[in-house]
This record gives sequence, structure tokens and C-alpha cells, in this order.
Amino acid sequence: MTDPPSDPSSDTPFDRPGEAPADEDVLAEAGSEEKEDEEEKEKEDEDLPGEYDPSAGAEVTVEAYSLPLSRPLETAQGTLERRRGFVVRVRTDEGTGVGEAAPLPGFTESREACRTALADAAAVAEREGLEAAHDAIDEETHPAAAHGIGGAVLDAVGRALDQPLSRLLGGDSRDRLPVNAVVGDGDPGATVEAAVAAVDAGFETLKVKVGARDPRADATRLREVREAVGPETTLRADANGAWSRAEAERFLDAVEPLALQYLEQPLPPGDVEGSATLRDGPVPIAVDEGLALHGVEAVIAAGAADVLVVKPMAHGSPAAARAVAMAALDAGLSATVTTTVDAVVARTTAVHVAASLPEVTSAGLATADRLGADLGPDPAPVTDGSIAVPQTPGLGVGEVSP
Ligand SMILES: [Mg+2]
Repeated sequence: MTDPPSDPSSDTPFDRPGEAPADEDVLAEAGSEEKEDEEEKEKEDEDLPGEYDPSAGAEVTVEAYSLPLSRPLETAQGTLERRRGFVVRVRTDEGTGVGEAAPLPGFTESREACRTALADAAAVAEREGLEAAHDAIDEETHPAAAHGIGGAVLDAVGRALDQPLSRLLGGDSRDRLPVNAVVGDGDPGATVEAAVAAVDAGFETLKVKVGARDPRADATRLREVREAVGPETTLRADANGAWSRAEAERFLDAVEPLALQYLEQPLPPGDVEGSATLRDGPVPIAVDEGLALHGVEAVIAAGAADVLVVKPMAHGSPAAARAVAMAALDAGLSATVTTTVDAVVARTTAVHVAASLPEVTSAGLATADRLGADLGPDPAPVTDGSIAVPQTPGLGVGEVSP
């Protein structure tokens, strides 16, 4: 392997001739513990000019935020009225970066556990640098904290190397991502109205929430949506784990003629065997909450899913989240990237993760409207059913203030 080419404009803050090359450091910073495809890794290496010392002392600051939700968010531990998390900033002699840790019950550690892990990591960073700080966080038990630090480091590295975060993550970064609209669990009239409005706004894929009523009544809602939007629109349904196996089978039988792209998390997240059984039915099955609970290897090994729903916040650093999606693709499954209803920093990080994948199915990234306020301007708004991936160095988010 040859060293990356040096950047002619190379007084970048992370450029330290004579020290370790950036490639390994950046990947290590990104917390990539998942096994990497060798060719893929080499390609990433070629794409990372400049040099960066991860063991130099660094400042990590953590600020709590609390933003109003535009409508309440149901979680595994009750209903949230506000979205709370942390803005993580890293600063070394060589540059700055911003990340977001947004813990959510059912997907990550608790807010208190996240706060403690970030504080511990900040202390390590001051003494031993950012790599040690990232290593100090257990990505499996504290994915949100790892996401905050890992995202901030990648932002700093991307800024220093003049590369958008999606390219740092590897692959041929794309510049536009199709996204799905989410249609809530209203009555049939409201459901059809919301579906038609989304199609009129340019969305080609709709995800309809189900599970709040009898499965046959949900099937009727889907049928009315299909009749209203026609055959060209892609339809998904998401039950958020609401059904028993028998209920899910009733729904699947009833929607068979409607050509759903997939049914997401029909069963409680613990029931991976049931999910595997449902794959014998007429509609592909996606696993969301179950992926956060069991991890990618177990879900794939159980044959529980046709599609994995990857929420980067639930998997640690952005590189670890990408590795989860790549594992799904390598196993012949589809992957879609969504958010945990995060603020602009983590939402934009998820945009970059999705943009770095070789295959994308319409992503669940149109979640900005779930917040009644945000940390700063959105560099990746939804227009006409898709998102333009920021091509500016690093994350591409401007000033944010909790
Ligand atoms: Mg879901």
C-alpha cells in the first residue's frame, strides 16, 4: 500500500509530515471495529490525503440540548414531548469538529449513561487524544456517546482534508438521496389525504404507520392509499412491533395485492424467529427495533429480515453504522438508513452514511419536521422527495447552538 498523495495546498491543520499516515488513524478514529472489506478499505485509504495525529491532546466539550418535538414521539419507555441529547465538539491544535449524541430508549443507552460516557471520554481526550477518547467508549453499550465523538472527529478530519464526510466513509459518495415520506396512523381519510399530499410534494416512496388498530383495518387503509396514489408510488408499512405473529399474518394476507415494498418490524423486537417465519409470506420483512436489540450478525444469522433499517445513532460511530449497512448488503439484504428523530447534526451525519453506501433504497431521513426547533440551519433539506448531500468539507453543518 502506498502512502496517500500529499495535498499541494497542504497546510491543513491535520497535516503533520513525518508522522503516521492518516488512513489508519482516520479509520481507527471512526471506531471501525467491524471487519472491513479489504478492497473497500484500500479504496478508502487512497481517498484520504493528509496526516493526522490522533494521540495529541484534544479538547472535547459536551453541551446538553432539549428541543421541542412537533408532535409527541412514542418510545419503548413512554411518550416524549422533547428531544434531548448532546452537542459534542472536538478541538485540537489542528482543527475542530461537531457531533451529536441523541440517546433514545429502545435504541441506545440512557441519557444519563450517555452523559457519563461523554464526560469520561472528554477527560481521556485531554490526556491521551481523540483516538483514546473514542476507544474509551464501549460502542455496543453506549452507541449514542460513540456516535457523538466519532461524528465530531470525522467532521474535523473531513474539514482538515477538504473532504465531505460521505467520502471519508468510503465508497463512491452520491450527491442525491431519495427519501420516503412518513404517513401517520390516522383514520383512512386522514391517511389518504397525507399520502396524496406527500406524492404531490414529490415523494416517490411512502411509509405508512400501522399497528394501532386491527390488522384488517390497517390493510383497508393501505388499500385506499394504493387506490389514491396509483401503482407507481412505492409503499411501505411500519408496525413498530405492535403485532402478534397471527395478526401480522392477517395483515400480510390482506395486503398481498397491494405490492408493498416491505412491512417493517411487524413483531416485537425480541421475536426474531417469528420475523424469519413471516419472510415465507407475500411481502418482504424489514427489521428496525430488532436490529438495535440483537445486532446485525444475529439478525442476519436468524434469517429474520429482507431489509435492515439502520439508525446510525444505534450503532456507534458513523463508520460502525456504515459497517452494519454494508454487512446487510454483503449478506444479500437491502439496507435503508433512517434517524432516531435527531437534530440537524446527527441527521446530516445519517445523510452522509446513506450517501456512502453502494446501494441505497429510499432513506428514512425526512425527519426534520418532527422537531419544532433545531440546533441550526439544515444543510440537507428535503426537496422534491430527495436530499442533496452536502459536498462541503466535513459534515457540512454550520453554526449550531443548543
Ligand atoms: Mg421503524
